[in-house]
Amino acid sequence: MEPFIFNTTKSIVFRPGAAAELAQIAGSLVGRTCLFVTDPGLRGLGLCDPAIASLEKAGIAVTVFDQVEADPSLATLMDAVEAGRENGVTGVVGFGGGSSLDIAKLSALLLGSGEDIDGAWGVGNAKGPRLPLVLVPTTAGTGSEVTPVSIITVGAEEKRGVSSPVILPDIAVLDADLTLGLPPAITAATGVDAMVHAIEAYASKSANNNPLSKLLAREALRLLGANIETAVSTGGNVEARGAMLLGSMLAGQAFANSPVAAVHALAYPIGGTFHVPHGLSNALVLPHVLRFNAPAAASLYAEIAHDAFPHLERETGDQALCADFIEELAGLSKRLGMQTRLREVSIPEDALPRMAADAMLQQRLLVNNPRELSEADALTIYKAAW
Ligand SMILES: [Zn+2]
Repeated sequence: MEPFIFNTTKSIVFRPGAAAELAQIAGSLVGRTCLFVTDPGLRGLGLCDPAIASLEKAGIAVTVFDQVEADPSLATLMDAVEAGRENGVTGVVGFGGGSSLDIAKLSALLLGSGEDIDGAWGVGNAKGPRLPLVLVPTTAGTGSEVTPVSIITVGAEEKRGVSSPVILPDIAVLDADLTLGLPPAITAATGVDAMVHAIEAYASKSANNNPLSKLLAREALRLLGANIETAVSTGGNVEARGAMLLGSMLAGQAFANSPVAAVHALAYPIGGTFHVPHGLSNALVLPHVLRFNAPAAASLYAEIAHDAFPHLERETGDQALCADFIEELAGLSKRLGMQTRLREVSIPEDALPRMAADAMLQQRLLVNNPRELSEADALTIYKAAW
């Protein structure tokens, strides 16, 4: 068996209503005064109120920073850190989608260690120690509560990342009640993104692909595949919502240790240039990238086909099962009401060559792809997806 390293969040609390009991779950960890990081939308909806009230009732002073935007900027991070510093906070709570959790991770790092963000960018460069950190996701997709990564937008559109086990939180709180109100389009896109995390982690060529990631990816696909349509059509179904939240976390644990590949690499130019949401960007290229990968990965995709789609026929061989798996994924996006072609999200055909060139910049992801992929291959895939 090959050597590997597996890191994850050390405590996971999964319970509907858990956010309203945040003080009992995390009060002693965060200390007497905490920074609560969220976005203006969630604050306006009052979704954070029970969690904040729980902390305050326990005598914990809460500094709320509610200015996190989508694709959060370095300026926002520095504002959050400043708010924490002014109030001498002893712990950080991140509450929201991937953006709020990303700001919370780096706020805890910079407040705890006093290090300079410029020395922390990249893989394994963050030093720590960070402040105690609790993350409460309100979408089921990114798995950010169990990934050691935070992405920040620097300047107009440069994305920089910090990747280090130091920014894995102490506690992840999975409260399905928080996701009941997510609109169908967001539920669909984030749910498919989580499925892509599991598929790409399972088939990743990374030297650190490992038995734990594979196991988690399969259980993630089982939960996500069985519940995504119910969660989209019947948003108030707390069972389905809980399964999606757990499934996306398991997929997060899988890909945090066995990283994603060409689906994500080809999705980035769609999101970066045309501001298509991350999950939808992935869904648009997913079947086409998997078809390209099939000659190298058919047996891997065949292994997970029944996890996501238990009704698929069991007697067929790897090639047929792989083809069925890809068709099911394409059909799923359609059934969920998502756009399925690049032209439907206002991408002009003449933008495809530039996108193919941009996708090649994602070498850190492409090296994990089960089949080597050139710029010409990327263009062929985009044309098929157009
Ligand atoms: Zn993703």
